[in-house]
Amino acid sequence: MLLSLTFQYTSFIPCTHSIKSSQVPILLISRLYLWLIGRGINNNNQEERPYLQQQYVCQRITHTDMFALTALPPGVDKAEWLASNTVAFFKHINLFSSALSEFCTPSTCPTACGPGNTVYFWTDDHGRKLKCSAPLYFDYAMSYIQDLLTDEDVFPTKAGSVFPTGFVFLVQKVFLLLFRTLAHIYWSHYRETLAMGLHPHLNTLFTHLTLFCRQHALLEPEDTEPLQDLIAALGQQAAPPAARTRIQHASHFYFHHIFTCTVNLFI
Ligand SMILES: [Zn+2]
Repeated sequence: MLLSLTFQYTSFIPCTHSIKSSQVPILLISRLYLWLIGRGINNNNQEERPYLQQQYVCQRITHTDMFALTALPPGVDKAEWLASNTVAFFKHINLFSSALSEFCTPSTCPTACGPGNTVYFWTDDHGRKLKCSAPLYFDYAMSYIQDLLTDEDVFPTKAGSVFPTGFVFLVQKVFLLLFRTLAHIYWSHYRETLAMGLHPHLNTLFTHLTLFCRQHALLEPEDTEPLQDLIAALGQQAAPPAARTRIQHASHFYFHHIFTCTVNLFI
């Protein structure tokens, strides 16, 4: 895997999206408020889906053309493109879920659930399905992905190395786990996401991931069905053609920078 990639949505993201020092007291108060009203209260019993509300669904950190961002660039090997994006998505989604980890505990989330009370079961090495808490499920998931990404036989990094047979199947499995991670956040931790002001980041990351999976046929319709209403709603928020910008795939990612700043405030 020679292609190094991190996401660069645009270089002109308004600085109002970054976290300024003056916002720190507000963010800390939001965090304290969440703690006082009940640490990580699971909101998956709400019939309404707040993430579909217009005032939230239109929030993103950029309106970069995600279709252009996810397409295979001319001259780039498809396996390289999949591998590089898999690494980048894992990095960012792992970072995002870590920011909310204190709200996701065995008591607040006794099952790994998604929208519509979908319950995800972890399948162990012996093919047995385990019903486990959300933090345990996603800990399994992130460890599984981490092990896969660092396996030279699966994600080779040396020149001349080839990707194994079944590589796409493994990539599909990784994206399914990443999708479920975001599905759980939308379903069970959206209130905390709002309080921390991370909902524009979440929408941007989710839109990017779902479009990438659609472009490269990585998820089945039944995989994405629990959040199909959100996918449709976010699709309607696509940037108009005049606002589209040329995407450059570079090694620096501004989103990563501002998101890292956000997370650091809560650690
Ligand atoms: Zn949870």
